[in-house]
Amino acid sequence: MQNAPRTVAIVGRPNVGKSRLFNRLARKRISIVHDMPGVTRDVITAEVEDGGYTLLDTGGLGLTGSDTPARITKASEAQVGFAIEAASVILFVIDAREGVTGLDERIAQLLRKSRKHVLLVANKADRGQEKLADISEFYRLGFGEPFYISAEHGNGEAEVRNAVLEKLGPVQEETDEERARLHICFLGRPNVGKSSLSNRLLKSDRLIVSDVPGTTRDAVELDFSYTNKDGKPWLFRLVDTAGIRAAPKLSSSVEYFSRLRSLEAIHGSDVVFMVLDAMDGVTQQDKAIAGEIVKAQKPIVIVVNKWDLVHEAFRTHSPGMEKYKNARDFREKFEKAMFDQLFFTPGAPVMFVSALTGHEIDRMLRAARALDRRLDTKIPTARLNATLIKLADRTPPPAIGGQRFKIYYATQTSRRPFRIKVFCNQERTLTESYRRYLEAGLVKEFELDGCPIHFDLVGKK
Ligand code: GDP
Ligand code: GDP
Repeated sequence: MQNAPRTVAIVGRPNVGKSRLFNRLARKRISIVHDMPGVTRDVITAEVEDGGYTLLDTGGLGLTGSDTPARITKASEAQVGFAIEAASVILFVIDAREGVTGLDERIAQLLRKSRKHVLLVANKADRGQEKLADISEFYRLGFGEPFYISAEHGNGEAEVRNAVLEKLGPVQEETDEERARLHICFLGRPNVGKSSLSNRLLKSDRLIVSDVPGTTRDAVELDFSYTNKDGKPWLFRLVDTAGIRAAPKLSSSVEYFSRLRSLEAIHGSDVVFMVLDAMDGVTQQDKAIAGEIVKAQKPIVIVVNKWDLVHEAFRTHSPGMEKYKNARDFREKFEKAMFDQLFFTPGAPVMFVSALTGHEIDRMLRAARALDRRLDTKIPTARLNATLIKLADRTPPPAIGGQRFKIYYATQTSRRPFRIKVFCNQERTLTESYRRYLEAGLVKEFELDGCPIHFDLVGKK
C-alpha cells in the first residue's frame, strides 16, 4: 500500500494570515498553537474530514521569538522546503493589500522549482473595498490568478476548498481482493519442523519431509484453504522454503541459493512464521534467522514447535525438566529467554504448537490473520504527532554530541510495511534504543502488536 499521502501545506511569510486560514479550513475556532505549556509545535496539523486530507501550517518552524529579518528569511526557506517534501498541494499565502515583497519572491522561486501543485492565495481581501495591490504583481509570481480571500471573514473560502480538492483528486478506494489470501512462510533452521507444519496445513504429502543435506528444493508456492474451528475457510498461500542457515556456515552454493530463496520467501510473505524447537531453546542459528526477518521488516508470529515433546518430557521425568514447575512455567521461561535473546518486533505473538498432534495450529493461523488485519491500520496524522510529543515528553531523547533528536512532524506514508516519514532536526541523533522506544510506544498506542514500524528520517544528515 503506497498511496500518496493527501497532505496540504500552508506557507507564506509571517503575518499574511496563515494560521487564520489554517483554522478556517480545519474548521477550528481556536488556534491549537501553544495549548500545551513548554511544548512548541513547529508544525501544526489537522485532519480535514470533508476532503480526507491532512492540513499543515508550517509557520512556526524555525522561528524562535527573537527573530531578525535574516532569521525570518532562513526560517521561511526552511518552511517551504519542508512543505515541498511533505505535501502534495501547497497554499502559498500572500497579503493582497501589501502586494509582493522580497520574501514573497524568494518563496515563489523555491516553490516554482518544486513539482508541487501551488495555489496562490491573496489574503485580507476583506470586503472588496480596501485598496489591493495590482494583480499583475501576483501574476508575475508564476502561479496564475490568485484566489482572493479573507481568512478573517470567510470570503473566497469555498473556492480555495474546491481548488484543493480538485488538485488532490478523488480519495482512492482500496480493493481488498488481494488481501483475501494471506501469504505466509515458515522459516527456521533445519529440523525444527517446518515441513511437518506445512504438511499439517496442507494435509497432504506434497512437501517432502527431508533431512538430507544438499537436497535442492525450490521454493514452492501452494495455495490452500484452511477450515478453522468455526467451519470458515481461510485462504492462504504458503511459500515453502529450504531451511536457511546462518551466513558463516554457508558451505556450498546449494546452501547459498537456498538461503537466497528463503529471503525471497520472506519478502513475498505478509506474515512470517519463525519456527523454533521447544526442546532446543534459542540457538545461534535461530538468532541469525530472526535477524534476517527483522531486517526485512516483516511481521512475525513466533512458533515454538514440538510442544508434544515437552509434555512427554514432563510425563517421563526426563533429565533437565526438574527446573520447571509445570508446562506453563516452562512456557513462561522459554518466552522470557527468547525475548531476552531475540530483538523481535514489540508485541510479536508467540504460539506453542505441535505439528505432530495439531495442537494450537488453528490459533497460530488465527494470530497471523489478526496480525495481517492490523497491517491495514491507518494512523491519523494528528494523533501520530500528539503521541510522538507525548513519548518525547515522557522520556526525552538522549543528547548526542550536545544535540538532541527533535521531531518536527511525522506522517504515515505506507502500510505493509508501516513506514513513517519523520521530519527531524538531525538524523544521526536518533539512537537505536530511542528508535525502539518510539516504535514500542506507537505499537502500544495504535495497537499494532507484532507489526514492525520503519522510520524514514528527513533532516540534516
Ligand atoms: P501568520 O503569521 O501568517 O500565521 O498570520 P496570522 O494568521 O497570525 O495573522 C496575522 C494577522 O493578520 C493577525 O492579526 C490576523 O488577525 C490578521 N489577519 C489574518 N487574516 C486576515 C484577513 O483575512 N483580513 C484581515 N483584515 N486581517 C487578517
Ligand atoms: P524442517 O527441516 O524444519 O522442515 O523439519 P521437518 O519437518 O523435516 O522435521 C524434522 C523432524 O522433527 C522430523 O523427524 C519430524 O518428524 C520431527 N517433528 C516435526 N514436528 C514435530 C512435532 O511437532 N513433534 C514431534 N515430536 N516431532 C516433530
